Amino acid sequence: MGQKGFYFDQTRCTGCRTCSVACSDLHNYAPDIVLRRVIEFEGGTWKVNTNGTCTQNVFAYYTSIGCNECENPVCVKACPTGAHHKRTEDGLVVIDTEKCIGCGMCAKACPYGSPVLDKAAMKMRKCDGCVARTSKGGMPVCVEACPERALEFGDIEELRKKHGNNAAIAPLPDPAETKPCLTIRPCASAKPSGFKGGTAHRF
Ligand code: SF4
Ligand code: SF4
Ligand code: SF4
Repeated sequence: MGQKGFYFDQTRCTGCRTCSVACSDLHNYAPDIVLRRVIEFEGGTWKVNTNGTCTQNVFAYYTSIGCNECENPVCVKACPTGAHHKRTEDGLVVIDTEKCIGCGMCAKACPYGSPVLDKAAMKMRKCDGCVARTSKGGMPVCVEACPERALEFGDIEELRKKHGNNAAIAPLPDPAETKPCLTIRPCASAKPSGFKGGTAHRF
């Protein structure tokens, strides 16, 4: 099996958050533990021209994000107990809850905000690529739930052949940092990683 990853079609995403809700429904954690977030990124302004007309460059778009199963998993490197690890079979990055001490080092290291602390259990929780399903040939719940078919999961090289290779979309960080197994079809108003003229709202 090759390295698994995600494709996200931003041109299709309506920001409905069905992916996020389906994931939370599957895991049944406390409501503040969200493993797939939908980030709204908005910005721009408008001005009145000398001839009385108006010009605007306002934009808003959504990005659905779980764990990107990175090729350079800084979360794994930061984990002091070896709980956070990358599977050799499929490259999925998962947490061994027996070993996890809830120290939050992985969360501090991850630039995507993927690991979340479960305060009741004092364990980190994170998208694991729905490993229980995908290791048996099934699809992640978030992928199946999306009513717009904006998400795909599979061999990342196959996904890149089909859809191209671009994860450098704001407000996501520069992909050179962790080499995420993620590729995005950007919407028309998408800004590149590092763009400072917008505000991100993470749900
Ligand atoms: S379910 Fe699909 S359309 Fe809705 S927020 Fe998630 S990715 Fe976007
Ligand atoms: S997205 Fe974050 S948690 Fe997932 S593999 Fe990459 S660095 Fe680790
Ligand atoms: S792959 Fe599974 S765990 Fe990860 S965000 Fe989707 S539903 Fe949640």
